[in-house]
Amino acid sequence: MYWQEEMRHNVTDIAQLAPALGLTGEEREKLEKLLEHYPMSIPRYYLSLADLNDPDDPIRRMCVPAAAEFDPEGDLDTSGEAHNTVASGVQHKYDESALVLTTNRCAMYCRHCFRKRLVGMSDEEILSHFGEMVAYVREHEEISNVILSGGDALMLPTATLERYLEELSQIPHIDLIRIASRIPVVFPMRVFEDEALLSLFRRYTQKKQIYLVTQFNHPNELTSQARTAVQALLRCGVVVKNQTVLLRGVNDSVETLGALLRKLTAFGVVPYYVFQCRPVTGVLSNFQVPFLEALPIVEGAKAMQSGQGKCFKYCLSHPTGKIEIVGLVGENRMAFKYHQTKDKHNAGRIFIRELSETDGWLGDIGD
Ligand code: SF4
Repeated sequence: MYWQEEMRHNVTDIAQLAPALGLTGEEREKLEKLLEHYPMSIPRYYLSLADLNDPDDPIRRMCVPAAAEFDPEGDLDTSGEAHNTVASGVQHKYDESALVLTTNRCAMYCRHCFRKRLVGMSDEEILSHFGEMVAYVREHEEISNVILSGGDALMLPTATLERYLEELSQIPHIDLIRIASRIPVVFPMRVFEDEALLSLFRRYTQKKQIYLVTQFNHPNELTSQARTAVQALLRCGVVVKNQTVLLRGVNDSVETLGALLRKLTAFGVVPYYVFQCRPVTGVLSNFQVPFLEALPIVEGAKAMQSGQGKCFKYCLSHPTGKIEIVGLVGENRMAFKYHQTKDKHNAGRIFIRELSETDGWLGDIGD
């Protein structure tokens, strides 16, 4: 199949990039060591969007490893995902949603990934018993939607994806199926050149509404090929939504984030979340923007949008739930509000925290 063959040409070895990046022998060796922990894989298409000569190029920052990933600060599981695992590869954090880790593979290993502990490396938390997952979802009638994630769920062969859609579409209490994938961003050909995949979506979205949740982070990712992929999905009846991660050196300006949100809505993609970058080891020091600096960027970008572009919420994914970063109530005092909660007693709760200039995450929130 075309897309699987094309994936074999991904750039996975730092030696292939060393001349373009101008690396010394020592720098190259260092990055080779890094890849033993956090692998690299860049589709040729995505690499063509990067300016490899410019270390500050936003596309390069998202796909090419950097020495900053050695920084040990942070945590590998900042949202407590391992604690929410109820069966092999199944997380059940919020009553109404089950999240299935279908694969540990992605078309590209994003340098800012919050699942660095898994992608391309460990398959410990990945689904190994398909029947167990289906039985769990069947038994739990409070689950109204299942998120097929990973890794990247569109890395599954189309026939495997069909097995998921077939089983889940037969469960009466499931309203919708979400597919989490960066493939429309990093390798859109997998969508628009695979007629079998599009036909699958056309058929199954008649049974249960399919939502594809993707992650465009920079306007340069919104290419004509990406648009072709999005429009092919929309024509199949799939709802396409976007969750952007606010990233240092990628989209941390009003102009860039504003342009991204405008272009998304022009493409027919609904901006769903802007996420605060998680304090993940290897990501924190390289990509996180502190709250007090980030809020004016998000608000400025929002002010550039029509009502459609203002649909998103600026949130962080905390072990206790999704928390919206609402706004300032004094010079350094920030209001937060629970948007989605693990424990129902927190539903809708608003709280205020005094922040330092470097604070970019919330620790223990308390009762
Ligand atoms: S596609 Fe998603 S899971 Fe995969 S590396 Fe990128 S951010 Fe992580």
